[in-house]
Amino acid sequence: MEPIFLKPVFKQMIWGGSRLKEFGYEIPGDDTGECWAISAHPNGDGTVAGGSYDGMKLSELWDTHRELFGNAEGDRYPLLIKLIDAKADLSIQVHPNDEYAKKNENGSLGKTECWYIVDCDEGAQIVIGHHAKTHDEVKDMIENKRWSDFIRVIPIHKGDFFQINPGTVHAIKGGTLILETQQNSDITYRVYDYDRLSNGKPRELHVEKSIDVIEAPFVPYEVSAKTEQGEGYERQNLITCPVYSVDKLTIHGKAVFHQDKPFLNVSILDGEGTIDGREIKKGDHFILPAGYGEYALDGNMMIITSNI
Ligand code: ZN
Repeated sequence: MEPIFLKPVFKQMIWGGSRLKEFGYEIPGDDTGECWAISAHPNGDGTVAGGSYDGMKLSELWDTHRELFGNAEGDRYPLLIKLIDAKADLSIQVHPNDEYAKKNENGSLGKTECWYIVDCDEGAQIVIGHHAKTHDEVKDMIENKRWSDFIRVIPIHKGDFFQINPGTVHAIKGGTLILETQQNSDITYRVYDYDRLSNGKPRELHVEKSIDVIEAPFVPYEVSAKTEQGEGYERQNLITCPVYSVDKLTIHGKAVFHQDKPFLNVSILDGEGTIDGREIKKGDHFILPAGYGEYALDGNMMIITSNI
């Protein structure tokens, strides 16, 4: 049994930058917004790099070797892990839940996602939630374009974490580098785009659907400060929700773990070291398959893991 390393897919975006180079990647341009690190989505299906499944797409591996994923159910790999480098503000969005997406978006999944702030500029901010007290107030504030009353903007710092449940208004602002763990879905409703023009026209908004799905009032998610400490490591559970569990793992020395999940997504966000003697470094992403069992991480590394 071996770790399954993936070759990321890069996306150029009008709001993208060049900071993904810091992970050792050869990026396609200075407007690279996203690195789809662990993805089986048709818009960016990752390729296995090396090992027994070299060259296979992750979607193909999911379809033909489900045993690697603990025979988990579902017609698609359930999670999508991205690094996002925002040089400029992204439009303000909201995602539907599974039930709404199934009914209104051709059976698609809804989307729950979460953000770990890998790095950000001094004084950086993020949009999470809104200030409306009721759903009627949400409708009124949006329809009357009361954006400064409506949108909740808060300061951020390196290491912050945000859970974005369906129905949560959210947007990354410029100067932010994040790791996103999300349900494998692309359904997004754009609420507001700061009245910007692209090619002389405002971008399409999805006002009615946004009003349908935005939850009120907004309730912020609080991360538990509790960490588990063991020999050579420290682990903090950032979130456990119905679609995923996400953990932050800090390795200092040699630490031994047991992979007992259907599969484990692993992203090295800082430092270098080894997994079972094999070299790994910042910017590497891999999956530990079902039944991998005991594994040793050695070095000085900051890692984000996720599992279903
Ligand atoms: Zn989103």
